[in-house]
Amino acid sequence: MEHTLMTLPYSYKALEPYMSEETLSFHHGKHHAGYVAKLNTLIKDSEYAEMSLVKIIKKSTGPIFNNAAQVFNHDFFWHGLLNEETTPSVELSDSIEQQFGSIDAFKTAFIDAGVSLFGSGWVWLSVDQEKVLHIEQTSNADNPIVSGRVPLMVCDVWEHAYYLDHRNGRAEYLINWWQLLNWHFVSDNFAEQKEKRNHYYIHECNENTEVCDYMSDLEEAERVSS
Ligand code: MN
Repeated sequence: MEHTLMTLPYSYKALEPYMSEETLSFHHGKHHAGYVAKLNTLIKDSEYAEMSLVKIIKKSTGPIFNNAAQVFNHDFFWHGLLNEETTPSVELSDSIEQQFGSIDAFKTAFIDAGVSLFGSGWVWLSVDQEKVLHIEQTSNADNPIVSGRVPLMVCDVWEHAYYLDHRNGRAEYLINWWQLLNWHFVSDNFAEQKEKRNHYYIHECNENTEVCDYMSDLEEAERVSS
């Protein structure tokens, strides 16, 4: 199965002034595209050749894992941006307030996590099986799927995400990124997770056969349609 570069749901120019056309064209058209091309080369004629992206992430290590996870992480990142102001659902907003105090306190904690992550990586909001929300820092290509949690939102803090616009100003980048955050995407992920129908639901398959079967069906459907 050939993996393809996701088509952005907006133009390269659409996220200005918070994210420039130049940054988007390099980030999506060069970096993200590079991971897709590399992944396809690496899995050709291997045991991973026909697997969905999520399955490859769960089963692989080394360069195949790195490139597959980077494809997933970037898809997730782009879906989480929008060139219009959005707000979280009441349900998500209640959960955030309950756990972090307020949306503003959550914003501060999330941005701090982005600023303090050492080296290249990603900052996530994820949810575990007990419905507890987590702000997670992951290095390089790692993501919450690996640790069995479900990703809800993400910010890319690799230098290539901000160097053209902000040079070394990662904090400035994070503040601008926040303006673009697509709360509809985050809220949908949260709602779907609560109903155990999240597209990215990553359960250990020995515990809950029903969910496991559902995930296999979902992955199969994804495979057939792509
Ligand atoms: Mn990136």
